[in-house]
Amino acid sequence: MAAQTGLPLYVLGRDADPHSEKGVDCPGELPPASDPELVERARKAKEALGDRLFVLGHHYQRDEVIQFADVTGDSFKLAQQAAARPGAEFIVFCGVHFMAESADILTTDAQKVVLPDLAAGCSMADMATFDQVEECWEALEDAGLADQVIPVTYMNSSADIKAFCGRNGGAVCTSSNARRALDWAFEQGRKVLFLPDQHLGRNTAVLEMGMSLDDCVVWNPHRPDGGLSREQLERARMILWRGHCSVHGRFTAESVDDVRERIPGVNVLVHPECRHEVVLKADHVGSTEHIIKTLEAAPAGSSWAIGTELNLVKRLAQTFPDKNISFLDRTVCYCSTMNRIDLPHLVWALESLVLGDVVNQITVDADTTHWAKVALDRMLALP
Ligand code: SF4
Repeated sequence: MAAQTGLPLYVLGRDADPHSEKGVDCPGELPPASDPELVERARKAKEALGDRLFVLGHHYQRDEVIQFADVTGDSFKLAQQAAARPGAEFIVFCGVHFMAESADILTTDAQKVVLPDLAAGCSMADMATFDQVEECWEALEDAGLADQVIPVTYMNSSADIKAFCGRNGGAVCTSSNARRALDWAFEQGRKVLFLPDQHLGRNTAVLEMGMSLDDCVVWNPHRPDGGLSREQLERARMILWRGHCSVHGRFTAESVDDVRERIPGVNVLVHPECRHEVVLKADHVGSTEHIIKTLEAAPAGSSWAIGTELNLVKRLAQTFPDKNISFLDRTVCYCSTMNRIDLPHLVWALESLVLGDVVNQITVDADTTHWAKVALDRMLALP
C-alpha cells in the first residue's frame, strides 16, 4: 500500500487513501483483464446506452479505451465537447481527475460525469493543494504584494485551484493560450503567480514574452515563505509554483543530443511542459494539439522525435507510417495515472450505467463551480 511504502500510487484501483485522489477503492468487481469478451462487452454496453452516453478520450489514453471514445482531444477540447452535448446524460471521461472536474463544471446539473478509475489523478495537479496556495497568498498579502499579483492556473489543476484564481481576479490557461493569458494578466497586475507547472510558466515568459530567467522565481510550497526573500518577490515578475509533469519533466537536454546523434536530420518537437533547457534545444515546441497538427502537415519521409506522452507518440507513429516518428527518450515512459483507465475499468463503468448505477461520479460543489467558471470564462474571453 502507498501509505506503507511512501509510493504515490496504489496497485491498479485497489486500496484507499481517503485524503487523496491518488488511491481510491473501486467500489465493485472489476472484470478480469484476461476476459476475452471485454471489447465486446464494452461495445454492447455502449450500444445499450446509445445517445444517453458520451465517451471522451484524452490523447494520452491507452488504445484499448481510446477505441471507444466518441471524441479525442486535449483536456480543454474535451471539456468543451462535453459542454456541447447537453443531451448526453452520462459523460464517461477517459482521462484524469482534474479533467473530469472541468467537464462537471462546464456541463449542466442534469449531466453526470464518470471517471472509470478514481485513482486516475495527476501528479502535477497534486503538487498544488488549496491549503498550500492559500498559504502562499497569505504570505504575499503579508509582504504587501498580493494586490499586484494575478494568479493564473494551468488547466492541469484541481477545481479548487481554478476557483482560487477566479476569486482572486485570475484566470485559467491551457498550453495553447498561455501567452495570451499572461498578456491579459500583465494588463491587470504587475506580477503573476503561475500554478502549478513551473515549466510552462517559465517557457512562456522567457521564450515567448521576452522576459529573462531572473524575472522568474520559484515558490517552493515545502519551505517557509516559499524559500524566497521579500526582495526576491519584489523583483520577480513571474512567481512560478514548484510543480511539474512527471512525464514531460523526464526529458533532458541529453535526450535531445542523443536523438540527434541517433537520427540524422531529425526534427525535435516537444511539449511546453518540458524543462526549459529541453525546449531551448528543440526545433519546435507546442501543445498536444499543435504536435498532432505539425505531424499531419509534415512531409512524407521526414523524421521526428517527440517529447510528450508515449501512448500519443505510439499512436501518431501508427497514424503516419510515411513519417519516421519516435519517442524523444530511450527510456519509455507512460503517464502512470492516465494509464489507470484500462478496459476492465471502462467495461465496469459502462455496464454499471446500463444497470442504472452511476459509479465514480465526479461532482464539484456549487461555490467551487461558480468561481472556477469565472476563471475559465476569463480564459474563454481572451482575444
Ligand atoms: S501527463 Fe503529466 S500533466 Fe498529464 S496527467 Fe500525466 S502527470 Fe498530469
